[in-house]
Amino acid sequence: MTAEHERSRTRREFLALSVAAPALAIGTVRALGAQTLRPTPTPACGDGGHATPPQTEGPYFKPRSPARVSLVEGDVPGARIVVEGTVLGADCRPIPRVLLDFWQADAGGRYDNAGFRLRGHQFTDEAGRYRLETVVPGVYPGRTRHFHVKVQAPHQAVLTTQLYFPDEPGNRRDSLFTPALLLAIRDEGAGKRGRFDFVLDVQTPAG
Ligand code: FE
Repeated sequence: MTAEHERSRTRREFLALSVAAPALAIGTVRALGAQTLRPTPTPACGDGGHATPPQTEGPYFKPRSPARVSLVEGDVPGARIVVEGTVLGADCRPIPRVLLDFWQADAGGRYDNAGFRLRGHQFTDEAGRYRLETVVPGVYPGRTRHFHVKVQAPHQAVLTTQLYFPDEPGNRRDSLFTPALLLAIRDEGAGKRGRFDFVLDVQTPAG
């Protein structure tokens, strides 16, 4: 892809977002009657039936991360965030025992490639829920703010994707960004709470 192609592609994506955003905002405010609520373009399960889209793994994945729900260890700097949600199948039913393997940059935009700082895996509970305690990732050159994650239901293919933050100036400049992968974020005390429900293109186990 030439630089010109990349620029025009980015411009198309930006224009598409600019056109879509006001319509969503008006619809959401009318529906909820609350000026303070922000629209989230991330589709709900069953709302068009879209599975969570895959994204590139990037250069910093490391296998065999530790099993842990909290990536906050010691005095790791950065704003605290809890990310939680449910992993659903194509029929919108929750899937238990789904592996989620998270990795991210630290508050300064650096990955730990020597050890496993800010890396960890966990499994969804019987109701398909996960909960990650961590810090807000920093940005690094060329990318907007994001988490990386691999999601794998038992005996199914791995979904590799990324999660993004709303209202980030970098979202418009990052050609990987898609509103389909936006976290719903709210402030909570000194930290933040983010929500994202994954929808896997798999049938939930019977029974
Ligand atoms: Fe990254």
